[in-house]
Amino acid sequence: MPELPEVETVRAGLATRLIGALVHEVSINDQRSLKRHLLGPKHFVDELVGQQLQAVVRRGKFLWLPLSDSRALVGHLGMSGQMLLRSSGHPEDKQTRIVIHTKTSQGDQLELRFVDQRIFGSLAIEDLVPTSDGGPGGFSPEAAVDASIPAPVAHISRDLLDPLFDDKAVVAKIKQRSAGIKKILLDQNLLSGIGNIYADESLWRAKIHYDQPAGSISGPKLLELVAIAKDVLQKSVIQGGTSFDEQYKNVNGKAGYFEQELNAYGQQGKPCQRCGVEIKREAWANRGSHFCPNCQKLKR
Ligand SMILES: [Zn+2]
Repeated sequence: MPELPEVETVRAGLATRLIGALVHEVSINDQRSLKRHLLGPKHFVDELVGQQLQAVVRRGKFLWLPLSDSRALVGHLGMSGQMLLRSSGHPEDKQTRIVIHTKTSQGDQLELRFVDQRIFGSLAIEDLVPTSDGGPGGFSPEAAVDASIPAPVAHISRDLLDPLFDDKAVVAKIKQRSAGIKKILLDQNLLSGIGNIYADESLWRAKIHYDQPAGSISGPKLLELVAIAKDVLQKSVIQGGTSFDEQYKNVNGKAGYFEQELNAYGQQGKPCQRCGVEIKREAWANRGSHFCPNCQKLKR
């Protein structure tokens, strides 16, 4: 599953070339990749042709390209979706489901190819609705965006890399919760952008047990955890995303980097980089939690 850094790498790659591009043709090779576009393929094509792509915006793991008329092209990458940019005439990529043919602001013919091996992802055109806090919809450093967000994403809270993310307000909300801290970190209604990998890595660095009741952690310690999580995400963005996911590719079709250093996630059986005790993995919410039983003790 791609996490925020992988999606940000895709977003930034698309933004460098697609902002201002005009859509002149759309080819649907597989209608299953439009499963979330409920009005059907013809409607999708009719809506998109003639549009100018205004920006490439991300909130958490969600990515969209605002169009005119309060609508946006939303890319759900799912487990296996990729968005590739190819010059016209570039050899076909296997499992290309949808091709959006554009003319860029520099006058180049450029194809946005939606490639999806397992069809877990999809594209859709969605209505934009006002953001609940009146701020821009999401992260888009290259182009200004309105205070609007695709309706299906509207319930997702701002992510840790969003300039409007409010550390103190979010920590105050976390303090009121009694569930385990990892469950809270993954609650997209509270803050977004942290998945399983980055939750385990952030908790390891902060020396907090994954099941520590959120409300039992001090305010300053929670602020420290938020700062650590931001740092972990930022470092991963710089490296182009993590990478465990072999499906993950950047917009040029290159696989992610496998070099990223991890201290907890997937490190079970190896010595903790801080104290040398063996990292453990415990079953957790149909997944796993990786932690150091010495550095990250559950405090009662
Ligand atoms: Zn340790």
